Amino acid sequence: MRDILHVDLNNFFASCECLVDESIRNKPVAVCGAEEERHGIVLAKNYLAKDCGIKTGHTIWQAKQLCPNLVVVKPNFSLYVEFSKKVRKILLDYTDLVEPFSIDESWLDVTNSKMFGNSIQIAEDIRKRVLQETGLTVSIGVSYNKIFAKLGSDLKKPNAITQITKQNYKQVVWKLPVSDLLMIGRATTKKLNDMGIYTIGDLASLSREFLVQKFGKNGNLLFEFSNGVGNDVVKNYYDFIPPKSIGNSITAYKDLTTEKEIKEVIATLSQSVVARMLESGFIHAKTLKLWVKDNALESFGKQCKFVGESNFDNITKTAFLLFKELYDWHLPVRAMGISVCDFFDGSQQLDLFGSVKQKQSKLDRQVLNIKNKFGETAVMQGSSLFDKHLGEPLGGLHAYQNSKNDKS
Ligand SMILES: [Mg+2]
Repeated sequence: MRDILHVDLNNFFASCECLVDESIRNKPVAVCGAEEERHGIVLAKNYLAKDCGIKTGHTIWQAKQLCPNLVVVKPNFSLYVEFSKKVRKILLDYTDLVEPFSIDESWLDVTNSKMFGNSIQIAEDIRKRVLQETGLTVSIGVSYNKIFAKLGSDLKKPNAITQITKQNYKQVVWKLPVSDLLMIGRATTKKLNDMGIYTIGDLASLSREFLVQKFGKNGNLLFEFSNGVGNDVVKNYYDFIPPKSIGNSITAYKDLTTEKEIKEVIATLSQSVVARMLESGFIHAKTLKLWVKDNALESFGKQCKFVGESNFDNITKTAFLLFKELYDWHLPVRAMGISVCDFFDGSQQLDLFGSVKQKQSKLDRQVLNIKNKFGETAVMQGSSLFDKHLGEPLGGLHAYQNSKNDKS
């Protein structure tokens, strides 16, 4: 039997901001992700802001209505990467089997780390050390597979440890809604609910054959996840191969006809590209590429070198300038993509954050998930690509059109 931990930093972005700025520590704080105040969307918030009812995905305007004295902070990704690195260094003291799931979450396989104690003792040690050495709090799920460990880290927070064992999983896990399971997004939840399946226990009562018949290959995952029989391996942290370029593209629901729409799409793309860069351990890239497809499906591309840093604002600004140079509006725009490459500065290159292939599809799904949660506009404005729940792997990733149907 394996010993798996899932370590989740609590309110990560907001906690980092409060750690470096004493003056906001005891105030409600929201980290909001857009240049323009009016369109900014809450990416993260601290507990005081949460207590006012502020949620991830709210616009700044909505958030301020709920909490007039809210402190709004722009995201400072390199700060978060710095903290994330410190935490990861602590985790790597216990095992090389550390698999980042996002900038603030990782799985650890501590089966062969007995010299540090049993899994609960290791979790307790990590919790204390992260707090002492960084000031951040974590929630840790301890279990015998990745899925239950992840579930466990959500059950008690902040600064807490939850164990899910072969003895207690039926009591602890089966009463939870199916949507709490990793990889079950809104469309799958709806499909399951329509079948009368509401809890993870309901799901676990179905046979593998039935689930495969209903959900195809993914039925296997649903069966394994709900019964805790998954045998997914925690990857070795050092087995990572850095990518040569990182990009993302979007096919719009309806053709884009204004510069304002183009700007919003570019902001969305920039945000996911920055997130992937950070997850892959890069802060700087030299080159930006943009491509545009018109509604007759002809593509156009252009690239340039960055002037200044390749951060969110600059990628957004530069991509928009590229667009203006590239595209003459002979037809409306159907699809767009941006990518960055030529990562540089060895000293700036950070520790690596995980397998990019995996992250890419994860982020794609997150776009979809946000869309499901907050509606089309939220995604068009580049809202929280850091939302930690995955969207819909079930049913495939032709995401963008499908999600429209999901909303109904
Ligand atoms: Mg977290």
